[in-house]
Amino acid sequence: TKNIVIIGGSHAGSQAAASLRTDGFDGKITLISSERELPYHRPPLSKAFIKADEGELQELRPAAFYEKNAIELLLGRTVTAIDRVAGLVRLDDGDLPFDGLVLATGARVRVPPVHGIDLDNVFMLRTADDARRLKARFHEAQDVVVVGGGFIGLELASTARLLGKTVTVLEAAPRLMGRAVAPAISAHFLELHRGWGSTIRLETPVAGLVGENGAVVAVETLSGERIPADTVIVGVGVVPNIELAEAAELEVANGIVVDATMATADPRIVAAGDAVSFHHWALGRPVRLESVQNAVDQAKTAAATLLGKPEPYKAVPWFWSDQGDAKLQMVGLLNDADRSVLRGKPEDGSFSVFHYKGDKLVAIDSVNRATDHMLGRRWIGAGASPAPESVADESVDLKKLVV
Ligand code: FAD
Repeated sequence: TKNIVIIGGSHAGSQAAASLRTDGFDGKITLISSERELPYHRPPLSKAFIKADEGELQELRPAAFYEKNAIELLLGRTVTAIDRVAGLVRLDDGDLPFDGLVLATGARVRVPPVHGIDLDNVFMLRTADDARRLKARFHEAQDVVVVGGGFIGLELASTARLLGKTVTVLEAAPRLMGRAVAPAISAHFLELHRGWGSTIRLETPVAGLVGENGAVVAVETLSGERIPADTVIVGVGVVPNIELAEAAELEVANGIVVDATMATADPRIVAAGDAVSFHHWALGRPVRLESVQNAVDQAKTAAATLLGKPEPYKAVPWFWSDQGDAKLQMVGLLNDADRSVLRGKPEDGSFSVFHYKGDKLVAIDSVNRATDHMLGRRWIGAGASPAPESVADESVDLKKLVV
């Protein structure tokens, strides 16, 4: 392999470029991104970036890094097709040959099919540009309605409250962050957000947005109620960017399908990050994960595979979300847990829920409890499981526990 092209310049793409160099690749690397910015940290867009007066993007790596490592950046450029027969990617203004290709195309916001979604002052958040627009709007916004009680919706809701806005969150499901956390965590954050002054309405699906003179003035619920809004933030998930892979006749499902080493069926092509569907070793079924950890670790695996040193991807999944002064951290995947044990008291604002499948620790959700989270990463990584009785007993020092 002499000439590697990376499509997508975010957490996965930038890491793939860096790993190719640390793994000893001395051929050509071209990193192509539709976004104009140097690859930057995406999570702060719903956190510090929106809050800070002088919000700056945090670059993943400085410009000098790409220069020093001879990584050619094509920013603000979009790949429109992959020609696998000719071995080239097509850009709007020309072709670029490859003999190795990394697909790090990530995901984009899911636009719900409701009326009024194109009205002015309706926002969705994925990119730096989205964040700049929302931040500018926050100077004027008063009545903010957030559609979707997931991580991004709730992070923005807490920020909007901090900035003094009236905030209503509408969630279709019976609990917050329902796809990702334990019920005790959902209940705790419901209390927190209500305590911060937001109105949180569960089981309230949205039918559409109502406008006047082209701008949103209300959100209409499925039951016909109208909730006034001068600003609406829609955070109802993402869809993976699989179209390029699909058009190139690579297998796609809910993501670009790869094997345990991040390889597609074409030996020249690997994929990593939010765009990828892979067979999870512990769950025994295909999953697509949306996290910085997953994007970065899969990119390392993908780079090694492309250089002929494939190793199965086995990184422990972890994730975080900052809402107000509460830091939520998750490690492992709780999908197949069959019981959970509480450590600490939610009313103290610091506790963890340990999830077990039988006797095996599979995941931990923690609120303001970094130690539990860090221990969990180590334990789950090593396949170790502390006894549930020890976990439930706060007089047991987990750091001293031998498991
Ligand atoms: P992406 O970040 O989606 O990047 C893909 C890139 O590829 C984009 O720049 C896109 O423009 C580009 N691209 C796609 N197609 C093409 C093409 N054809 N040609 C050229 N370029 C193309 N994760 C956490 O772990 N913790 C958090 O707290 C957290 N908070 C978040 C907050 C926000 C507001 C958002 C939006 C995400 C958050 N995430 C968080 C998720 C995390 O940011 C993603 O999991 C991560 O960015 C995935 O990285 P990626 O490289 O796979 O894809």
